Amino acid sequence: MQSIGKMMERPLLISAILEHSADQFGQQIIVSRETHGPLHRYTFADMAKRARQLANTLSSLGLKAGSVVGSIAWNNYRHLESYYAVSGSGMVMHTCNPRLHPDQLAYIINHADDEVVLFDSTFAPLIKAIAPHCLKVKHWICLSDKTNTPAVEGIDVKNIDDLIAPHSQSFHWPDLDEKSGAALCYTSGTTGNPKGVLYSHRAIALSALSTCLPNVLSISSQEAVLPVVPMFHINAWCLPYATLMAGAKLVLPGPKLDGASLYDLMESEKVTISAGVPTIWMGLIQHLEQNNLKFSTMRRTGVGGSAMPRALIAKFNDVYNVDVRHGWGMTETTAIATMSNLSDSEMEWPTDKRHELVAKQGKSVFGVELKIIDEDGNSLPRDGVAQGELMVRGQWIVEKYHKADKTALVDGWFPTGDIATISPDGVMQIRDRTKDVIKSGGEWISSIDLENAAVAHPDVAMAAVIGVKHPKWDERPLLLIVPKPEKSLEKQQVIDFLSERVAKWWVPDEVIFVQSLPVGGTGKVQKGDLRLKYGSIFTD
Ligand code: AMP
Repeated sequence: MQSIGKMMERPLLISAILEHSADQFGQQIIVSRETHGPLHRYTFADMAKRARQLANTLSSLGLKAGSVVGSIAWNNYRHLESYYAVSGSGMVMHTCNPRLHPDQLAYIINHADDEVVLFDSTFAPLIKAIAPHCLKVKHWICLSDKTNTPAVEGIDVKNIDDLIAPHSQSFHWPDLDEKSGAALCYTSGTTGNPKGVLYSHRAIALSALSTCLPNVLSISSQEAVLPVVPMFHINAWCLPYATLMAGAKLVLPGPKLDGASLYDLMESEKVTISAGVPTIWMGLIQHLEQNNLKFSTMRRTGVGGSAMPRALIAKFNDVYNVDVRHGWGMTETTAIATMSNLSDSEMEWPTDKRHELVAKQGKSVFGVELKIIDEDGNSLPRDGVAQGELMVRGQWIVEKYHKADKTALVDGWFPTGDIATISPDGVMQIRDRTKDVIKSGGEWISSIDLENAAVAHPDVAMAAVIGVKHPKWDERPLLLIVPKPEKSLEKQQVIDFLSERVAKWWVPDEVIFVQSLPVGGTGKVQKGDLRLKYGSIFTD
């Protein structure tokens, strides 16, 4: 018979991360670039006080455990306070991606049952557009001071600083079940409507702990961390939690994500670790090259969301002396699931071979297991050659989408929609994708939605959209159109038509008119053939 360990059962809670940070690293600094005004700077202890004030405020507004609070906000200090106040109170922090089309944004706010939406003043026009469609939202709260809180026609906008001011800086955090929902993020990396992933306190705490490990991002109180990865996208890879756990200085970049602004902040705040998608790093490197600059303190950068090009890894390593940690993860995996890193002996390898290894997506972190399967569900060998769908399981992997009836798992594993190889020593490499979506600058574009929008044009008979490699955005959409008989269309007409129906950055970079599209036995357009034919038009 198994024996049961005789240890305490204390839940892993987000409120505990906050209180730990205030108690152990109370004087550590959080720097935040604001939409208006100078850099904001305060301590972990100050942050905890305001988070507790906000927790009191939310409860005074009638919100209870299980209530959902949405946010449409940049990486800044008030957003950080909300992360802790909302989840710590047993409510759910629903971070919304402002790059979604307003219809999709309204859809996820309604689907999640958001009762409050916290937003940055930048997004006032977006709030004006969605508010009439979000009837469950009782309070719209601007994450700003009174002076910079805009009026939004048709709604009563409250201001967070005024709201929290009368409330106590103490709060009794509830002793929650660690399995309760803490944060919610919708992914549009699937076909159909965005799907919500409801993270538990336990999943976030474990994932954040793992992020601090030396082989992952190695976060400690000696580091200054600048998360470029947005707090509205997979919890900013859990960095807002990991930094407070570890006592690292936290530098929040706000809305300015261009190379010059990031470089200035990295230098002025002596940043040592950063994290973001490859597109951001391209902009940063370009700025350094054009201005003949070097980093004085940066030593490590976490990169993921899309494949990190080898040439960029080489530049960071060889020219700028920055160690690249290339990870893979998804909204469904809470944060980082694999990390590419070099062991002691691999550090001795020739430069090219080292970069080649880092360009792969790496080994799974403890707590995450990987396997690859063929079309019949059989496991494939870990030989670095066999290619199959990547399946993942672990303590912080989704089991079921928010409000879904059915499990998202197949035989206990989550199907990622990515095609990968795994080498005998566990190094995973993403080779392709089965999902019909395009990842541009780290954000998803649905090819199916674009095709549907294109065939709505009265002169279009058939349309197909594929993702094509792009030097800056990783992928961009290419639209192929078969016009109706005796109809002729101009590229600009199609672009104008789509611009009225989809988000601006979704509009395809190129439209090609063809007489027919390759169709397979089941009537589906053979996108593989199209990728072979047109896959290099943005790079040639
Ligand atoms: P999201 O849920 O929006 O974060 O997207 C997750 C998806 O992004 C994965 O399933 C992959 O398709 C892709 N992805 C994430 N990291 C990488 C990476 N390092 N290399 C290639 N693709 C990646």
